[in-house]
Amino acid sequence: MNRIEDWLELHRLDATLVQDVLAAYRAGALSSQPLPASDAPDATVRLPARHECFVNIVVPALVGSLDDDVDVRDALHDIEFAELHSDGPRNPHTVDPGNGGPPIVVMAWRGRVDDLACLAHECAHALQIRLSGHDTMPPVAREACAFLGELLLVDHASRHNPALFKALLQTWTIENESYLGADLDALSDALSKSGTAYQYRQNYPVARLAAVQLFGRRAQHGLHDLFASGGGAMKHLPVESMANRAGDVASHLAPMPESDADRPGMDAYRRLGARTLLDIDYWKGASEERIGDYYARQLRHGRERTVFLALDDDRKPVGYATWSVSPDGGSVTLARQAAPFGDHLALQRALEQHLHAAGAVDAHHSRSARARQAAWR
Ligand SMILES: [Zn+2]
Repeated sequence: MNRIEDWLELHRLDATLVQDVLAAYRAGALSSQPLPASDAPDATVRLPARHECFVNIVVPALVGSLDDDVDVRDALHDIEFAELHSDGPRNPHTVDPGNGGPPIVVMAWRGRVDDLACLAHECAHALQIRLSGHDTMPPVAREACAFLGELLLVDHASRHNPALFKALLQTWTIENESYLGADLDALSDALSKSGTAYQYRQNYPVARLAAVQLFGRRAQHGLHDLFASGGGAMKHLPVESMANRAGDVASHLAPMPESDADRPGMDAYRRLGARTLLDIDYWKGASEERIGDYYARQLRHGRERTVFLALDDDRKPVGYATWSVSPDGGSVTLARQAAPFGDHLALQRALEQHLHAAGAVDAHHSRSARARQAAWR
């Protein structure tokens, strides 16, 4: 692979599609963060030796999220490790020995948090090689798997070790500065000039953004198929849906705090406030109504539990919908949907999922307002 055109062809991508993905990220429509920042106090993280970290942290993190099956466990336990040599390549990497033998992770270990992130990254490469039966993945897909390995580690730490979680999330954020900074600018330049020489780092920006998206959807779609997909891996990456976000504008509203079970009144006001701000941005008449009429309608939907507020990955309000249910409870009619920042499709999908999960007739049942208004992702 010599030129950017070869890279596009190998991945079955075209330059405009990739530029749209980059534009969507620059417009703030694609998140680079897998989880909200931690508010745990700063603490020094002491990590044990590499082997302990592998067995006790990385293996459980990957196994737990990739269907806990024998293949995954076997593949991880077969990995061989080697130290980086001063006369070889300087960056950590994973070698497929090519004869069906176990992949070899080559890296330095200094016991730092970024070493642990690197270990998860390289082990995810090893896993993707093994689960794909050594059928080579295109590099963007390969790196998406490796970044997913890092995110599964972050997720595991979020449940088991708050100090480590905070440190890993900080590492992810710092590393975004190069992957989604200089690397993204270089890729964008390369795409705009035909014949530009291919560089491996051109793979990182799309892989990084796709990993965050796939991480967010893992509960619905799983990750095992991607890791096992080898040469056909690109069809598992949501490149098109990421590119479709290029026209979106990021929400400028403040993120919503998590619901407070002890103060349901406060939550209700906050959500009413968010809907009002969305209506002001969306316009289409609602914000010109008399305040009393507007409030009465919002109050009725709140009481009937026929309102749904949509939050983005950063918990910023991006839209809301209200609906009415027919007297026999059998059908639902959309009353209003406001998505001022452009992503109507996402709002509709989330709403459909929400109504479906609620059995479409639950407006007559008293489900908790908290469950109903839980953020969608
Ligand atoms: Zn990698």
